[in-house]
Amino acid sequence: MQAIQKNAATWENLGILTLEIVRCPNCGSLAERYYLSTQHKLQCDHCDYLMTTCAQTGRVIEAYAPGLNIARLILSSPNT
Ligand SMILES: [Zn+2]
Repeated sequence: MQAIQKNAATWENLGILTLEIVRCPNCGSLAERYYLSTQHKLQCDHCDYLMTTCAQTGRVIEAYAPGLNIARLILSSPNT
């Protein structure tokens, strides 16, 4: 957690309000969720998963997962 405190000033410059450590929905490893003033970003260094959503509407701005479940998450049908 020392690194987080050390970088706090830099985050403020970037507009990052909060950083949260969460489980990656793609690979289950520890991932970082950034709360910025205009968007929320979930980023996993283990599998390169990325999900950026609008802070106000929750709409997905950018999403990326390395060849895995992302298409299924969005397109999943109730029949399966
Ligand atoms: Zn991951």
